[in-house]
Amino acid sequence: MNIAVIGTGYVGLVTGVALSEIGHTVTCIDVDPKKIAKLNQGIPTIYEPGLSEMMLNNQQRGRLHFTDQHRVGLADADVVYLAVGTPQRADGSADLQYIEQAALDVAGHIRRSAIIVIKSTVPVGTNLRIKQLMLDHLHPGVTIRIASNPEFLREGSAIHDTFHGDRIIIGTEDKDTASVLESMNKPFGIPVIKTDIASSEMIKYASNAFLATKISFINEIANLCEKLGANVEEVAKGMGLDHRIGSSFLRAGIGYGGSCFPKDTNALVQLAGNHHHDFNLLKSVIEVNNHQRRLLIEKMLGRFGSLTGKKVAVLGLAFKPNTDDLRESPALVLIPELARLGAEIVCYDPIAADQGTKWINVSAQYTENVADALKDADCALIITDWPDIKRMDPKTYGRLMRQAIVFDGRNCYSIPQARAARMEYYSIGRPDVV
Ligand code: NAD
Repeated sequence: MNIAVIGTGYVGLVTGVALSEIGHTVTCIDVDPKKIAKLNQGIPTIYEPGLSEMMLNNQQRGRLHFTDQHRVGLADADVVYLAVGTPQRADGSADLQYIEQAALDVAGHIRRSAIIVIKSTVPVGTNLRIKQLMLDHLHPGVTIRIASNPEFLREGSAIHDTFHGDRIIIGTEDKDTASVLESMNKPFGIPVIKTDIASSEMIKYASNAFLATKISFINEIANLCEKLGANVEEVAKGMGLDHRIGSSFLRAGIGYGGSCFPKDTNALVQLAGNHHHDFNLLKSVIEVNNHQRRLLIEKMLGRFGSLTGKKVAVLGLAFKPNTDDLRESPALVLIPELARLGAEIVCYDPIAADQGTKWINVSAQYTENVADALKDADCALIITDWPDIKRMDPKTYGRLMRQAIVFDGRNCYSIPQARAARMEYYSIGRPDVV
């Protein structure tokens, strides 16, 4: 198949690379010429384990191309994926301007009939509106069929997820389109669920909302555990063994972030509201998450009284390990708040430090390694459970810091480990070690 992918962000680039890996000829198109120039040199524009090698290999085999010219990239396309961003608007709803523009770009340039696959996460009803928008702008004689194919990859394991996902959802208006896409995806060896377009769009939002609910639920249990002297890790283990509950997404912490859960939960609340449905459960999930992010600042203030002049080592900026993505990371809330409270901030992140300097507009120092960040710090604040932070000998804190006081938003160390290292240790949903 000749495939064009519009957008080379986390989803578009990974999709394009993976489709070329299973043998299709793929051209990825992006409006950002700087990204395209880098990609054409074989340099990925995002950090994802395994992406670089796979991308380069398929470029060398002549199956994967990049261009900033829609006309060139769309010339031979049988199938066109739309994978542009659908960020959050100020009112919480999904901003559809990029996908509408991408749809217009495609409609204006395709000269042969094609299947248009919407990979971006869009509110229920959007696929059909996009179809109509395109129909109004197609060249005479060109026809399109539309399909919803939401993406479930997780940043940090995007390549793995694309090849080992739990399901591929294909929502179409007709069986033939679904069959074409099913056979196109067959080499992935992942179960395909064929459904109608509205259900497909809803599956994506419902899945993310459910996972966010699980996180906020365990975080509320964690907050109760702290008050009642229980340990949330023991509780989560005991709950998770029940197969009806499952153990994933039951790790307490400083809340979910990233480019999907916050915006998709807000968009679903908005969508429900537009249809006179008050989604109270999801509103609470969001509220719990917003509160959870600030918990450790409250604990720090409880411990120190004031943070003015205190040197705080911030460990991890990304919203989770193995990604350079800072979108909606708790770091974006916590670091400005620390600055407002007068703290001196030293940050370490193995991959996302460059993004930090771009996104976080407060005075902070960035270091190349954990040790430099910890040196002479009054306390450490762990935001991301990067492997090198988790694997670090907890005694390192005492060796390098003024005093080994650690506020851990990801429960990186066990309570016995913290005791053995003689740390003063505050974590989430577990007893303090003082
Ligand atoms: P992104 O912001 O990383 O990338 C979007 C890309 O599209 C950018 O490179 C931008 O330059 C390009 N673009 C915008 N308009 C264009 C146009 N008209 N023509 C060509 N290129 C254009 O976005 P992302 O994180 O990859 O997310 C894309 C969609 O996938 C969103 O709807 C998101 O909700 C969804 N999604 C994301 C993830 C994730 O983990 N990032 C997971 C599942 C679903």
